[in-house]
Amino acid sequence: MKLKTFGLEDIRDKKVLMRVDFNVPFKNGRVTDDARIRAHESTLRKLLDGGAKVALVSHFGRPKGASDPLLSLKQIVPDVERAYGVKVLFVEDCVGPKVQAALDALSKGEVLLLENVRFHPEEQKNDPAFAADLAKPFEVFVMDAFSAAHRADASTSGVIPLLSSFAGDLLVREGEMLGAVSEAPAKPFVLILGGAKVSDKIDVVGNLLNKATTILIGGGMAYTFLRAQGLEIGRSLCEADRLDFARRTLEEAKARGVRLLLPVDSVVAAVLDASETKVVSSTEMPSDRMGLDIGPQTIELFASALKDAKSVLWNGPMGVFENPRFAAGTRAICQAVADCTRAGAVTVIGGGDTASAVREFGFDDKFSHVSTGGGASLEYCEGKALPGMAPFEIK
Ligand code: AMP
Repeated sequence: MKLKTFGLEDIRDKKVLMRVDFNVPFKNGRVTDDARIRAHESTLRKLLDGGAKVALVSHFGRPKGASDPLLSLKQIVPDVERAYGVKVLFVEDCVGPKVQAALDALSKGEVLLLENVRFHPEEQKNDPAFAADLAKPFEVFVMDAFSAAHRADASTSGVIPLLSSFAGDLLVREGEMLGAVSEAPAKPFVLILGGAKVSDKIDVVGNLLNKATTILIGGGMAYTFLRAQGLEIGRSLCEADRLDFARRTLEEAKARGVRLLLPVDSVVAAVLDASETKVVSSTEMPSDRMGLDIGPQTIELFASALKDAKSVLWNGPMGVFENPRFAAGTRAICQAVADCTRAGAVTVIGGGDTASAVREFGFDDKFSHVSTGGGASLEYCEGKALPGMAPFEIK
């Protein structure tokens, strides 16, 4: 998806409200990972270089529509300053006279950070009067928070029609890369799905089944598919109400000539934190065990199916990767997809848990793109119009 972005003439010396996602992991008064802050650097740099006066607006945690000092964005000011190398002035509200006054007093090279927008209950109701208050001191709106773009909030979508609005670099990149693997992907296109639940991925399957050359299904969701084929899955995850969907998907893939591959073996254990694990074939799952990772033969099967891919989209880990005993499958698929990137394929990792996994295993720079949005990247791949993104689409 190609998005309308800004040129120098659009923002020169203008007052700009920029929606970012500073909902960073925060423990004991410290930001533990500032990747989300750094993700907006390029957009902010362009605005500052163009002489714009910029105020950053974001949510932080779930304050339930009321002020909460533990969820004040004031706490992350030093991290924002460090990440961007600029002076950050904090404003104790995101609307009203304080914002206007701070904006008037702002000097070149300084940036405003507004207080947590979710301290106002109107934000998540996309209240038009609140959106108008947010927009009031500004001339331009730049939407850069892809991870919040699937939400129709005042600060992600309500302000768009009220100002001269543009997509920021991060939003543009997400549209470009997720678009490359979900709109008209270069073939062979391999879709890799995993994670806990079939129900979370149903609409992605629905949208991409007719575009994929091959679909690889691992993780907890694979067992509902194996059960749908009549196999014993022991105590592995199974969504009884999704068995019909799994059966239909298997039939439809066959009818359309899409190769759909399921695990041929699994790493199993009696309980999640078990010290004793073993590898069993998918046709020999013991009734008192659960599948917690794809096995070595599945790794080989999936890796060989990825070999000639021209585009790859991966959403959902292959096993309970948080436990090192069940991480080998996800790590091996990281390597196989990284090999595709090196061979010239476009490779995109959906956000959320898959992004955490690839980062944990040190693969985050081995793909064409790792999405910064969990829910947003899923909805994009489902073919849905995201309220904070669709208005910028250039058809
Ligand atoms: P999702 O958010 O749907 O992508 O799910 C990610 C979660 O799925 C991770 O926390 C994994 O631990 C979990 N997961 C992956 N494979 C399995 C499995 N075989 N059994 C149970 N949970 C799994």
